[in-house]
Amino acid sequence: MALLSGVALINKSKTHCNKGHEFTQSNTAKWSNSKGGYRRGCVACMRIRTAEIAKRRAALRPALAPFRERLAKSLSDNSIPEPNSGCLLWIGAVKPGGYGNLGIKPEGRTYIAHRAAYEVAYGTIPTGLKVLHKCDNPPCINPLHLFLGTQLDNIRDCVSKGRHVSRRKGDRRIQREGV
Ligand SMILES: [Zn+2]
Ligand SMILES: [Zn+2]
Repeated sequence: MALLSGVALINKSKTHCNKGHEFTQSNTAKWSNSKGGYRRGCVACMRIRTAEIAKRRAALRPALAPFRERLAKSLSDNSIPEPNSGCLLWIGAVKPGGYGNLGIKPEGRTYIAHRAAYEVAYGTIPTGLKVLHKCDNPPCINPLHLFLGTQLDNIRDCVSKGRHVSRRKGDRRIQREGV
């Protein structure tokens, strides 16, 4: 399909399409037919038709479940219960530090799994607050094992559980193994 250089060359007498759009140069398209000739087309009508087809296709697509529902489903699809501790272990992708990494399509939103689990169970996490683990188990997403706290609570919690780490990675490893 190419734009006509001179509308007047084809069908001189017709100045408007059947729906009344004017055959101006920019509103006129031509494309070859099987007989080697050209057909003239109204660009405005083609745009309308394309939009109608897109609309019909969109209507046929299954409706997306509400976002929260899909978030909850992703959490349950990517976790397994640990019977001894009662932890619900995230088995999907993880971030450094062992926290679950959860992505929701098509919105393209990503979550830290245990924070998502907290939100699904109890509602939005207030700004600036951390979701901490009572069970001290980073991949756990069991809402019963999660509680809200500040960064300071987080540090105090780590110290009380003997998990306080210095900045050097080597020290962390030694301390973890020593626990
Ligand atoms: Zn038209
Ligand atoms: Zn747990």
